[in-house]
Amino acid sequence: MSCRPMIFTDLDGTLLDHYSYDFSPAQPILSWLAEQNIPVIPATSKTFAELLVWRSRLSSQGPFMVENGAAIYLPKTADGAPPDGLIEKDGFWVQEFVATRQTWIDLVEQLRPQFNGCFRSFTELGIAGIAQLTGLTDESANLARQRQYGEPVAWQGSDRDKQRFIDQVNAAGGQVLQGGRFLHISGNCNKGDAMNWLVTEYRRHWSPDTTLITIAAGDSGNDRDMLERADIALIIPSPVHEPLSLQRQSGIVRATTPGPTGWAEGIKQIMADLTGDTRPATATPLRNQHG
Ligand SMILES: [Mg+2]
Repeated sequence: MSCRPMIFTDLDGTLLDHYSYDFSPAQPILSWLAEQNIPVIPATSKTFAELLVWRSRLSSQGPFMVENGAAIYLPKTADGAPPDGLIEKDGFWVQEFVATRQTWIDLVEQLRPQFNGCFRSFTELGIAGIAQLTGLTDESANLARQRQYGEPVAWQGSDRDKQRFIDQVNAAGGQVLQGGRFLHISGNCNKGDAMNWLVTEYRRHWSPDTTLITIAAGDSGNDRDMLERADIALIIPSPVHEPLSLQRQSGIVRATTPGPTGWAEGIKQIMADLTGDTRPATATPLRNQHG
């Protein structure tokens, strides 16, 4: 029986530095994982448009999750048809877990008269407004703006109205995820459900003798579902909020440093434990691959 690890990783604050988006401290172990054919699957709140840029930076060629588990994109294979239920979109096979964005824009607009002046939506803000609120460049704000499965709003009203708004979205069959700067209105999805769907897909393609071991890495509340459900949870400390606590009691590895340094530290430890191969633990950069 062989063991195949799969790594699901959050990006912002986990594989990428919270402030600089640098990932060079994780580059040596990423290269080692690529050599071993161990999949590293981005599981992020970012959009498809943002992921195209990050996949190229990370030399990542496999599947990825967008918008907090709203959809999974699989690279098309040269042969064969897409797996059942998947649609073809932007050159990928896509499994969607929620309705597309217009549904959520319509819901936000339907609620607007009851919450006059309490929020500004992404559609309303436009590139310049998003750039101003997030500190992103216009170019990055444009990529972040191209959401396919939800509509974020910047909340400007009271906490009491916010709760009322969240209740109304829930009553309409939606879900509100509180991010650092925005409330994200979408359908019922999370990174854990999307992870489990992809694991099932992988299982169908790998030999029944293969034991699949899932590793999830994250730093925030939106990573909780996948961290609770993976075989091994790697918790990355955040420079901006309290360390994440989980309900599970075992299978947790806590990195001691935030961002990519902690990611590399944790993944090396997990890989050395799983494979008995000490090379990942001693993998050090031979050269600065980031510049
Ligand atoms: Mg994060």
